[in-house]
Amino acid sequence: MIRYHITSRNPSSHYFDVSIQIDTPDPAGQQLRLPNWIPGSYMIRDFARNLLDLQASSAAGELAIEQIDKSNWRVAAATGAVTIEYKVYAKDLSVRAAHLDHSHGYYNGSSVFLEVVGQGDRPCEVLIEKPDARYCEAWQLATSLRRKQANAYEFGLYEAQDYDDLIDHPVEMGTFKRIAFDACGVPHDIILTGRFECDEARLAADLKTICEYHIRFFGEPAPMDYYQFQVMVVGEGYGGLEHRASTSLIASRASLPKPGQTKVDDDYRDFLGLCSHEYFHTWNVKRIKPAVYQPYDLQAEVYTDLLWAFEGITSYYDDLALRRCGLIDSESYLELLAQTMTRVQRGLGRRRQSAAESSFNAWTKFYKQDENASNAIVSYYAKGCLIAACIDLKMRALTTSQKSLDDVMRQLWQAYSKQGQGVDPDSIQQRVSEIAGQDLAPFLDELIYGTGELPLAELLESVGIDVLRRVAKNAQDKGGKDAEGELPAVDLGAVLKDGEAGIAIQRVTEAGSAQSSGLSAGDQIIAVDGLKLNLGQLEQRLLRASPGDSWQLHAFRRDELHCFDVILQAAEENTFVLKITDRQQAARKAWHES
Ligand SMILES: [Zn+2]
Repeated sequence: MIRYHITSRNPSSHYFDVSIQIDTPDPAGQQLRLPNWIPGSYMIRDFARNLLDLQASSAAGELAIEQIDKSNWRVAAATGAVTIEYKVYAKDLSVRAAHLDHSHGYYNGSSVFLEVVGQGDRPCEVLIEKPDARYCEAWQLATSLRRKQANAYEFGLYEAQDYDDLIDHPVEMGTFKRIAFDACGVPHDIILTGRFECDEARLAADLKTICEYHIRFFGEPAPMDYYQFQVMVVGEGYGGLEHRASTSLIASRASLPKPGQTKVDDDYRDFLGLCSHEYFHTWNVKRIKPAVYQPYDLQAEVYTDLLWAFEGITSYYDDLALRRCGLIDSESYLELLAQTMTRVQRGLGRRRQSAAESSFNAWTKFYKQDENASNAIVSYYAKGCLIAACIDLKMRALTTSQKSLDDVMRQLWQAYSKQGQGVDPDSIQQRVSEIAGQDLAPFLDELIYGTGELPLAELLESVGIDVLRRVAKNAQDKGGKDAEGELPAVDLGAVLKDGEAGIAIQRVTEAGSAQSSGLSAGDQIIAVDGLKLNLGQLEQRLLRASPGDSWQLHAFRRDELHCFDVILQAAEENTFVLKITDRQQAARKAWHES
């Protein structure tokens, strides 16, 4: 048993105070290490950079510590138990690390708990003690970690079966709002932190609907006996990270359902989609996972070309589940799918990088995007979602809706729950072909390893949906809906935003009008044809322009003013709208209502 203790002697300093008692340390000197990344977020984050004041002692006194590398230490050999003490600076308000101030505390175990190397499979207990400050008196605690000696939602003693379990249950402490519901007999809690207004009964009812859909999709019983949604409510923000029996989310105040509001607006739909996404991960990636993640090596990058399946298939089912459980209608679901098609279509990177390559290079490309990202890479989330749609629709078309991607996911779940089987690059492909009753290898290879256009128009036709294409109206146009008013015939080939010193160019399209004239991301446009203008006025000018027209454009690059002659190119039809027809109603119903 490894005994951890965590508290804070001064939360305003943003320090967690951690200690570890190791009863039987390695006689040759105990090695300790901290993860460099957190499962679900594929980037080296070097959590050890926040670790301070590391000390070790035994009954005989202080022990020397040798640092081996950025995240590994060795304590001098000792007889009897060893105690380790350190601080962790916690001021990252994201779902991936730790945060502590006078208003609340939050941590992922991977940011705060050193692993006792060689004893990672031993059971752990952790005494989580209320921080020692007047303003923490009313604090409570929320975690999916098992209670050993603690009252529900209180500080006390918690336990984990091993280190991997210990770091997969984030902890929230503070004066949060708790909303309870039950899904297929499993107790669930929503823990809301921050300032917000929310129709609690509606939120609980809607999440119950989603959770029960997913549990029944994979088959009862659910793989966890308790589940927690931890939501940090902020002004602006969006994101989530999945865990085996909980998820940590960051959501904007506007995305919660307001009291008295009855319809699912776009913001609330996004929030429900996020909850649905993380909950689907309880099966897909937290349990069904790439074989190379069994177990995780959290010291260095672990490469897989399967993130398109774990994030993409999850991204496909998150919104589809909202449709299938009746929270949104088919039009609303197809609007979301068309927006994903639009996102992929607008990046030239789709022609350079396959979904498999995007997965493999997540560490250095997807997670480290710069202003050229849309020209260089494709998202394994967005393209993965569209690949999942292609596979699902293809299987349905070949089997008159008798078989689908749903069967593939259930079979992967069975293989995991019976044999703990991990997923190899070929296992998804083989199952798709087997279940569809036809060799789909060439079709699947092109989707996953190819960079050609996806056959979505033809596949959506098989469920009676027409794919329409048009040009983008302006920077806010995400696609999915008919455009109102006029559309421009030209495209500047740049993503723009009103800035303080002019119109800021955030990205340029490779070989587009802006780049061809010499403009670059980071430039600040101040005038077109000698006249000062803002983004709204520039969009108005674009509406009146024709392909081939020339503009003289002034822009600052750093502190130097430059003049550019821009020849406007024709706008590309890169924006999708999906329309339901009266054809193939049975196939569409089977897809949307199963
Ligand atoms: Zn995800």
